[in-house]
Order: sequence, then structure tokens, then C-alpha cells
Amino acid sequence: MPRLLSGFFALLWIVGCSPGSSERHQTLYVFGTLLEVTAYGAGADDFDRAVRGLEEALQQMHRQWHAWQGEGELVRLNRALAEGRILQVDAQLAGLLRRAQVYARQSDGLFNPAIGRLIALWGFHADEPPTGPPPDPAAIAALVRQAPGMADLEIAGRWISSDNPAVQLDLGAFAKGYALNLAIERLRGQGIRNAIVNAGGDLCVSGRHGDRPWRIGVRHPQGQGVIASLDAADGECVLTSGNYERYREFAGVRYAHIIDPRSGYPVRHVASATVISPDGALADAAATALSVAGPKQWRRIARRMGLKLVMLVDEQGRVWLTPEMRARVHFEGTPPPFSVTPLDRDAPAPLPPPP
Ligand code: ADP
Ligand code: MG
Repeated sequence: MPRLLSGFFALLWIVGCSPGSSERHQTLYVFGTLLEVTAYGAGADDFDRAVRGLEEALQQMHRQWHAWQGEGELVRLNRALAEGRILQVDAQLAGLLRRAQVYARQSDGLFNPAIGRLIALWGFHADEPPTGPPPDPAAIAALVRQAPGMADLEIAGRWISSDNPAVQLDLGAFAKGYALNLAIERLRGQGIRNAIVNAGGDLCVSGRHGDRPWRIGVRHPQGQGVIASLDAADGECVLTSGNYERYREFAGVRYAHIIDPRSGYPVRHVASATVISPDGALADAAATALSVAGPKQWRRIARRMGLKLVMLVDEQGRVWLTPEMRARVHFEGTPPPFSVTPLDRDAPAPLPPPP
């Protein structure tokens, strides 16, 4: 996957907290990006020990879940799927894939981590952003016709197979959220109860910042600075997908790294989608799915995924958000034009969450 924890630019960061003696920071370089761990009220030794253990666990995930580099579980699995072989993977990857199947179904396939071939075709299976003209339209159309989807994946315990050889898995859209949740749990297990783990702007929090909640800022997708700030409650994750983060630029057109699986082309209408949920993997998958859904369809997909706290910023800078999200965010400076809309009640009821 292109940089599991992608983006060097923080979309969100902790605002309004001047480092005091009660606050501790460490920055790790994992998944090809910077990951900042902040804790409040922890002892220096406890914090250092916990962060060292965390770094090792995250490096291990990076190795196992990379879509195109090394010899981890996912690289082995993608090879087996391409060759039509069944493969036994470790329990954690099998669990992750089972979740991905649910998110894919809930999002009507807009979140589709089986489109690894399309992502590679667009040049995003590389550490550097791609250059040059977009791929041959015929090649894109051929991959779309093969329709790789998570429903093609047969998961029997830890045994994985697919009868669609076009399925190639790329966990880049949601493994980060999953890893952030695990990181917070791990820190809690080590006695670090008040913390933020922030990977390139996507984050999960635990506890509080002393006598107040953790306060974070959401970066403006079209400029510098913060578009809104919000208080994140104990156990919440805030995940943002943005089409400005990684893209190919050619002849004045930007081609984002988020691909609409229906057309095979990058999304155009959404600049960023932000989702808050205690489930980081769900929030991450949803932020990607809602970026694909765009201003016309996001309310239906958000309801299907069981979300309430959602905000989209479109290419014109208009903000779309749920009443619940409106109650959480404070716009910074002059508020942008925004529309508060409840989720689509006519959409089918939410699908059940993963077991
Ligand atoms: P970021 O990693 O920048 O926060 P996302 O969470 O949206 O952004 O993940 C984008 C990555 O997900 C892409 O780089 C690609 O690897 C993968 N991807 C792109 N489009 C889709 C899609 N429709 N469904 C699932 N994964 C996708
Ligand atoms: Mg995502």
C-alpha cells in the first residue's frame, strides 16, 4: 500500500496546548511517515518504554501489510491471489480482511481495497508521487470490467482465496485507522491513559488533557491553517481523507490517490472528508468511501456505515456536515459556506458492524 500511514503534512494537529511539564512528546518514523505520540501526566520512563514497544509493534504491522514492498503477509497473499492459490495468513490479517469485507458492503463498494491493480496502474504503488500522463483509458476500462471486489474474497478462518484473479489487496485506505486504535490500546495497557497518537494528521485519543478534553484542529484542504477545531473525547479517532495529499499532476489536472472503483478514475468533487468514531478502522474506511461518494451521495453512505459525525469539504470550499458534527466543530476565523444536513433517512438502514 502506498505509505500505510501516508502524508507528511498534518491535516490535524493538537492546538492550543503549550508544552508544559505534564505533556510528553515523541515522534516516530514508521510506515514512511512521522507519527507523533503525545501523553499527558505520564512519567518520563513509563512513556519512553511504552513508545519504544509501540514503535516495534507498528514496524511489524508495516512489514506485514505493505501491498507492494518486501515479503510480508500481504505481498505473499497478493501473489497467491494472482496465481489463483489459496493461502493461510496470520490471524490479524484475516481479521482485518473480514472487517474490510463489511466496510466494502456497507459503502456499496465505494471503499474497495480489492482494487490494488487500479491503484498500481495510476502509479500510487511507489514512494514518490507519480508523474506523466494518466494511464491508458483502455487499461483502466479493462480493470473496471474485471470488477475486483471484497465479495470475491473467500475467507475461511485464516485461509484466503478468490476466484477473481483481478483481486489485489491494498489496505492503504483503512489499516492506518486500525493501527492507530491498536496504538492507543497498547499505550493504555502500559499505563499511559491520556494520549494522542497522530499519524500525518489522522489520530486517536485516550483520556483528557488534564482538566479539559484534547483539542485538535482540522487543516483546511485548500489552504494553510485550520478550518475547524474540535474536542476529541476519550477513545475517539478523527480520520481525514484528502485528495490534496497524494496526487499525480499532469497538464494542469490533479489526479488524486483516491480512486472511484466504479469508473476507475480518481475522485474530483471532494477535497476532504473527516469522520469521527471510536473505531479508527471504520472511520478511515469511511473517510475514503465518503470522498468517493461526494456531496451528492455521502449522506446515504454515512447512514449505511452507521456514522453520525461526518464533515466533507468540496472542491469549491463549501462544507457539508451532519447536525451532530456541527455541534462538535468550531470554525476558525470567518466561517466557510456550509450546509448542515441530517443523514438520508430514506436510505436503507445501517448494515451491522463487523463482529
Ligand atoms: P490517506 O491515506 O491519505 O489518509 P485514504 O485513507 O483515503 O487517504 O487512503 C488512500 C489510499 O487508499 C490510496 O493511496 C490507495 O492506496 C487506497 N485507495 C484508493 N482508492 C480506494 C478506494 N476506493 N477504496 C479503498 N482503497 C482505496
Ligand atoms: Mg481512509
